[in-house]
Amino acid sequence: MHQNHYIRNIFYKNIVYPIYQLKYGVFAGNEVIQIINEIDNSQWLSQDDIKALQYKKLKKLIAHVFRNVPYYQDIMKNRGIKPEDIKSIEDINYFPVLTKANIRDNWTKLISADIQNRKIFKASTGGTTGEPLKYIRDWQTLVWTEAASLRGMSWAKYRIDKRNIDFRSPDWPSMLGKIRGRLINNYYFPAFAKELQIIKYMNQIKNIKPFSLIGYASNLYRIATICLNYELNDIQIPVIFSTAEMLYDFQRMFLEKQFSGIVFDYYGCNEVGSIAYECEYHNKHICDERLMVEITDSLGNQAINRLGEMTITDLDNYSMPFIRYKNGDTGVIAARTCKCGRGLKIIQSLEGRTQDFLQTLDGNYVPAIFFPARFRNLRGIDQYQIIQNDINSITLRIVKNQYFSNRELIEILNVLKENIGQSIRINIDECGHIPLTDRGKTRLVISHLPRDF
Ligand SMILES: [Zn+2]
Repeated sequence: MHQNHYIRNIFYKNIVYPIYQLKYGVFAGNEVIQIINEIDNSQWLSQDDIKALQYKKLKKLIAHVFRNVPYYQDIMKNRGIKPEDIKSIEDINYFPVLTKANIRDNWTKLISADIQNRKIFKASTGGTTGEPLKYIRDWQTLVWTEAASLRGMSWAKYRIDKRNIDFRSPDWPSMLGKIRGRLINNYYFPAFAKELQIIKYMNQIKNIKPFSLIGYASNLYRIATICLNYELNDIQIPVIFSTAEMLYDFQRMFLEKQFSGIVFDYYGCNEVGSIAYECEYHNKHICDERLMVEITDSLGNQAINRLGEMTITDLDNYSMPFIRYKNGDTGVIAARTCKCGRGLKIIQSLEGRTQDFLQTLDGNYVPAIFFPARFRNLRGIDQYQIIQNDINSITLRIVKNQYFSNRELIEILNVLKENIGQSIRINIDECGHIPLTDRGKTRLVISHLPRDF
């Protein structure tokens, strides 16, 4: 009864969508549709039945790394693990977690011996704050990512034949990219355009009458604020997809009010693709059919219902398998079910990256999520960032504008002292602009301290 409503139009399903996916191969479009049909059913299975699906895939992956991947051959030999010892998904615990540093140090050993027979693609995450991480993924993971993404967006009633505005790319797409997007009614606009250009684009968007809008949380918030400031208050967008950054409650509320729509937040990362999407009850369901997502503590043990590090196994990537990969984000997985009836696990909260916490003088942590709500009324400061290099001091970087006053600065300093400790030393660094990360994300807090939660 739920079959095929993502690409419900036969014309789109049989002709337009396969053409759209030609970029990835002649059969890519059909493969995506086939997987959608599969996961369309499996989302309604019980948690135990979904675990059984994961177990089947995990067992196959472990058998593969045992035969082909030197890094895991060493681990399995040293720990005395045989593929037949994996008797349930919980037995993934026999494996250690995999950090970015592990990947850099063992790059060649992580590559599968049968790589020449696999269809692969190479990618990397850049970043203004860290070293880039290079990795290889099976082409098959793209098909899975795309299918999981279309299913997740369909929970917000998105369909590929509905008009969608995409504000994720920093620049205009190529002509070919534009045409390709238009096939499925995607309209691209540059994410970081200046105010007056945003007004121009939003007037065009008003005429397009889109069903949905996709963008990064802070940038969508900026765009909505510009619309309010320029009294462009009659643009209605039923669905707003926010991604790639923490979405704060006040941002969600403001976006919903400004565009008279409903916000759906989704979560993913470059290294593994789409991870979790909000259902109609606004719970973020994990794409369990393609990923095993655990939350682990600093010892690598599973943590349920409490804060820990995202630890992800991509069940379809055989060329450079990541087993229990820590992507640097923190969050909580809830041990409960959702009213929507889907058996997919729920990410209860995302608290940002592990470096996104400040350590207080008495040894506690303040997440970056805390600051935007406290500082949102600042008129004289365009951007800010808090950097912690040691436990006793922080650097506050600010970009001032013409409304700046010392009173505001004192207010910020007081908030920081109240929450980190009265005797914290605060260095103030006034700068022209604060660089965004490679994907256009804003980092509000950067900590260089080790962390032990
Ligand atoms: Zn749900």
